[in-house]
Amino acid sequence: MKKQHVGIVGAGMAGLACATELVRAGFQVSLFDKSKGVGGRMSHRYYEKWGADHGAQYFTARGAQFKSELETWMQAGIVQEWFGKIVTLNQGGVEELSKVTPRYVGVPTMSSPAKFLAQKLSVSTMQTISELRCTEGVWQMVSKEQGLLPCGFDQIILAIPSPQARVLIADHSTYLKQACENVVMLPCWTLMAYLKNPLSLDFDAAFISDRIFSWLARDSDKPNRSPYETWVAQASHQWSLEYVDVSQMQVEELLLDEFKEITGVDCDLYQTHLWRYARLEAHRDTNFVIDSKLNIALCGDWLRNSTVEDAWLSGHNLAKRMIWLSKIDTIHSMSTINIS
Ligand SMILES: Cc1cc2nc3c(=O)[nH]c(=O)nc-3n(C[C@H](O)[C@H](O)[C@H](O)COP(=O)(O)OP(=O)(O)OC[C@H]3O[C@@H](n4cnc5c(N)ncnc54)[C@H](O)[C@@H]3O)c2cc1C
Repeated sequence: MKKQHVGIVGAGMAGLACATELVRAGFQVSLFDKSKGVGGRMSHRYYEKWGADHGAQYFTARGAQFKSELETWMQAGIVQEWFGKIVTLNQGGVEELSKVTPRYVGVPTMSSPAKFLAQKLSVSTMQTISELRCTEGVWQMVSKEQGLLPCGFDQIILAIPSPQARVLIADHSTYLKQACENVVMLPCWTLMAYLKNPLSLDFDAAFISDRIFSWLARDSDKPNRSPYETWVAQASHQWSLEYVDVSQMQVEELLLDEFKEITGVDCDLYQTHLWRYARLEAHRDTNFVIDSKLNIALCGDWLRNSTVEDAWLSGHNLAKRMIWLSKIDTIHSMSTINIS
């Protein structure tokens, strides 16, 4: 039987989980990502001697499938539990959160699980896929950086946020285009701060409900981080949506003022980032979508919920379905041969 070649756009957690399972089952898989590295929204930014996790802050593991994956990551030493003191900070009042579900982080950075999965995969980075082409059932990709890529694929998977998938799919599949519609993904303005002196706050992270920031965390408290005092502050989705089209310089000023108001200090060095498609507005139960006539599928957190576990499950479950479908096809083609 000919080995199926699958092209995956997006090397975030969903694309990597899907590729891992497909490769395990004998598929040939090539991943493409527009960024310099893998991990997508589970990423870490380095700035000379300091750096911070500026996307996903930690993750939890609720279901059996993801718990088993987490076990592999723990054994490989690329994930640890984070025991930081987390509080709620409302109208000046500080209240410690009761610790119900363990929180995990990648070590030494949040992108470590993605890098771990990518080690065994074929990933081309800095390839922004801008167009898909299909000739007689063979798919090809066009990238902004290199034009028409030489590989031909039997199947294509888009493991990217819905607004980006919609653009690539629009000319090919009405069914998949519809699946991308009415999915609202909210933005998040993020401030990463380096401080020369440690902040004397009695907590490592805070959920905040009545300010510009909805999350503030001492990134350097996470295990195996650099010794420099670094903080990450994320604006609420509501505030970020209001300021999504405002210039970075103007937003920076507001974020820095807010940081000083809460912590009492100025940042010594800082960076800001806008996540345009940070999180889903409302949880969904779709898991993944396949157009089996065209051999294209969609996966990603946006088909379930905006968590690392959901992104992994979406990609993993899509791979399981594709493996099952390929077995059915094989049985069908064998019985066709027997009959004739
Ligand atoms: C600010 C923020 C805070 C968060 N906090 C948490 C948290 O605390 N806990 C938690 O569990 N989750 C959190 N999340 C959500 C979590 O990060 C995501 O649910 C998960 O990482 C999504 O994975 P994904 O693979 O579906 O998508 P992504 O990680 O977005 O991966 C998609 C990949 O596709 C690439 N791409 C997009 N378009 C193209 C193209 N045209 N060509 C090539 N490549 C392309 C991107 O570069 C990216 O690498 C947070 C997210 C953000 C942004």
